[in-house]
Amino acid sequence: MAETKTLKLTGAQEEQLFQKYRDYAAKTPQYAKWQLKLPGCVITCYQSGKTVFQGNNISQYTPVSEEKNKDIFPQAGSDEVGTGDYFGPVIVCASIVREEDLPCLKELGIKDSKAIPDERIMKIGKTLMEKLDHSLLILDNAKYNRIHDSANMNAIKARLHNKAYCNLSKKASLPSLKIIDQFCAESSYYRYLQYEEEVIRGIHFETKAENKYISVGASSIIARYAFLTCMQNLEDRYGLPLIKGASSETDACAIEFVRKFGWEELSKVAKMHFANTKKIRELV
Ligand code: MN
Repeated sequence: MAETKTLKLTGAQEEQLFQKYRDYAAKTPQYAKWQLKLPGCVITCYQSGKTVFQGNNISQYTPVSEEKNKDIFPQAGSDEVGTGDYFGPVIVCASIVREEDLPCLKELGIKDSKAIPDERIMKIGKTLMEKLDHSLLILDNAKYNRIHDSANMNAIKARLHNKAYCNLSKKASLPSLKIIDQFCAESSYYRYLQYEEEVIRGIHFETKAENKYISVGASSIIARYAFLTCMQNLEDRYGLPLIKGASSETDACAIEFVRKFGWEELSKVAKMHFANTKKIRELV
């Protein structure tokens, strides 16, 4: 039965809704910002600030208030690290947080790993791994470079997140709320997975989720913990510091690395498609 619902969404919610279903954008009617024609639902976002949902299947598309969402448990969340670092692997972690984990997690001060110093990550990362059901995937540089020839970073991320949820589903039953710290449009995410054997669906995508959902925060810490451990191992193996990030200090490390060990070896510790490679090529 056709229904009509009018909501006043926040600017962020409007934007999120549009980005999520932008493939369904229709011609913009007068006085509207945009219109989406989805299966069973037409959504019109008006300049007045009102958004109208019309059709026989509108509940699927009306946004859940973010405030309510973040307090639902159990919840699963996933995040990745290493994608902005020239050296080191790309790592994705998905974990499940249950209501009974909350006191301990709050005591540990779980939030976005980027806001926590490395020394602290090394202390709490291990505890989280012991406490939470999780799946951790580490894509080493050699494999990353091979895959990157035919897949872009977002495609790689999508496959890793999906694989992490697949693995997690074999360890524990997945909660209905599963959050990915959003790195691309939802439609692109599932398109990247079109040839995967198993795809976990019903994911909630949200930007800056590592600050809003404790499960995403916990996963980002576990992933960062694994990343720091990998970097330490690489530094020990080569006896050189490998500066994180992708700055000119990183370039200086890479130059020294290539002089000592050669280009072939560099491709085992660095993401070769980064602009850093081109820069250092002229300097080695
Ligand atoms: Mn993230």
